[in-house]
Amino acid sequence: MQSSPDIVIIGSGMGGATLAAGLAPTGARIVILERGAQIPDDAPARDPNRIFRNSAFLSDETWLDETGRRFAPGNYYQVGGNTKLYGAVLIRYRAEDFAEMQHAEGVSPAWPYPYETLAPWYEAAEKLYQVRGDVSSDPTEPAHAGPYPFASVPDEPAIAAVRSRLKATGARPFDLPLGVDIERWLRGGKTGWDGYPDTRSGKMDAETCGLASALAHDNVELVTGARVTGLKTGPDGKRIAEIVYEKNGETHRLTPATVALCAGAVQSAVLLLASGLANSSDQVGRCFMNHNASALIAFDPRFRNDSVYQKTFGINDWYLSDGEGGPPLGNIQLLGRVVPDILQANVRFLPKPVASYVSGHAVDLYAMSEDLPDPESRIVLNGSDIQLIWRRSNMVAHNRLVGKIRATARAAGFPVVLSRLFDGRVPSHQCGTVRIGTDPASAALDPECRSFDHPNLFVADAACLPTSAAVNPALTVAAMALRAADTIRRDHSA
Ligand SMILES: Cc1cc2nc3c(=O)[nH]c(=O)nc-3n(C[C@H](O)[C@H](O)[C@H](O)COP(=O)(O)OP(=O)(O)OC[C@H]3O[C@@H](n4cnc5c(N)ncnc54)[C@H](O)[C@@H]3O)c2cc1C
Repeated sequence: MQSSPDIVIIGSGMGGATLAAGLAPTGARIVILERGAQIPDDAPARDPNRIFRNSAFLSDETWLDETGRRFAPGNYYQVGGNTKLYGAVLIRYRAEDFAEMQHAEGVSPAWPYPYETLAPWYEAAEKLYQVRGDVSSDPTEPAHAGPYPFASVPDEPAIAAVRSRLKATGARPFDLPLGVDIERWLRGGKTGWDGYPDTRSGKMDAETCGLASALAHDNVELVTGARVTGLKTGPDGKRIAEIVYEKNGETHRLTPATVALCAGAVQSAVLLLASGLANSSDQVGRCFMNHNASALIAFDPRFRNDSVYQKTFGINDWYLSDGEGGPPLGNIQLLGRVVPDILQANVRFLPKPVASYVSGHAVDLYAMSEDLPDPESRIVLNGSDIQLIWRRSNMVAHNRLVGKIRATARAAGFPVVLSRLFDGRVPSHQCGTVRIGTDPASAALDPECRSFDHPNLFVADAACLPTSAAVNPALTVAAMALRAADTIRRDHSA
């Protein structure tokens, strides 16, 4: 391997892989350092018991919560990062998310730029990730230059029936934009995809799309099992001069011209804090956000749910306001199918026959509300431990959203609707620990994701998001990475 590649990218998840795809055609010598390995083809990828009960794909890493209690976070380290297990909902932030928005319990600040600035990069990301959807199906959908690359993933009959029942109440379900080739996916096994790792069988993720596109170029190299432990500046204290990583128990060093940190919102902040870099604003690690999210099970003994994958529509009726002129509440979308094994993994001592009966007569939903940036919600290093001090915000809005969908499901003929809030051990939508901004005194990165303190350092993963909005983050991470790639490309051609 070159010890002095042009560009080193740390992490091969949504940010890193997409950035690599954006930079590969430049011909620059690019090395991607990924701490994890590739999920093998023979992994228990479709076994809900192994995945949801035995956490087959979780690392053995533990973090501390605010009280100092140790927990196993739902954070995944492998080629493709968290996208290997993701639900492949690839949705744009709404145009209004880029402007200041008043919420029930605070303000979601404006981005340094409007939606229109990111729109072309969203379009490029949708092409790269082969998104399926219908731009006309959601009234809150921001302007698109054209249709999605592919038509929507179809509802299964049971889910089409649920959609009709919800519509009859006045709700406006829309087709979820998805990165799934459903025929290929089902050939690999009759399961949903949300939470199931993809072994290159139809899910469009950071490995199968971003990385595959990048590695088609001879100038890009992926090094797996390479855990970056530190970044160092040169004598001027400005430019990042060296990347240190461990592989197979040995320490290695690279001296690239440009460094892109894409280790995920928690680990990117950890690396910067551990290295004492990019933090003249004292903002690194702060404003950790994660959606307030609840799972709901809507049960009707007369309804038969024989669907396999389920996750095809969402509802944004309460996204921009509560529907009564009040502040926004959030997004609703179907969850991946909660099969009996998943139900049992989540409800202790639930007998299998009861789990099967409930699962066969229920539809599963996901309610998601914006978490507002709070400097006291943060990642800190506690000795060698990562401590996650997540201060949830905006729970009034979230509880109202859950109330809205519960009432709507009941009106649609589901008499029993149970809900459970996801707790802080599941940072799946983590973002915002190294945010972009216009003022170096209050942000670590400029609007192009470049460190204000170090001109050859970029952070292009979920850490750079200034707000969490209330839709799934991965497409926005990808769009920002492609935009950052364009800036880096211009640096290198200057
Ligand atoms: C179960 C689940 C379902 C989800 N569903 C959706 C969804 O439907 N839609 C959506 O938009 N989002 C979804 N998400 C969130 C989505 O996966 C993330 O927003 C996205 O992956 C973030 O991209 P990233 O680049 O910031 O981090 P990641 O994709 O996690 O990538 C970070 C990479 O860096 C590597 N790394 C970390 N530390 C180091 C180090 N020190 N050295 C080298 N490498 C390192 C990691 O191994 C990883 O590969 C889901 C997440 C989960 C867990």
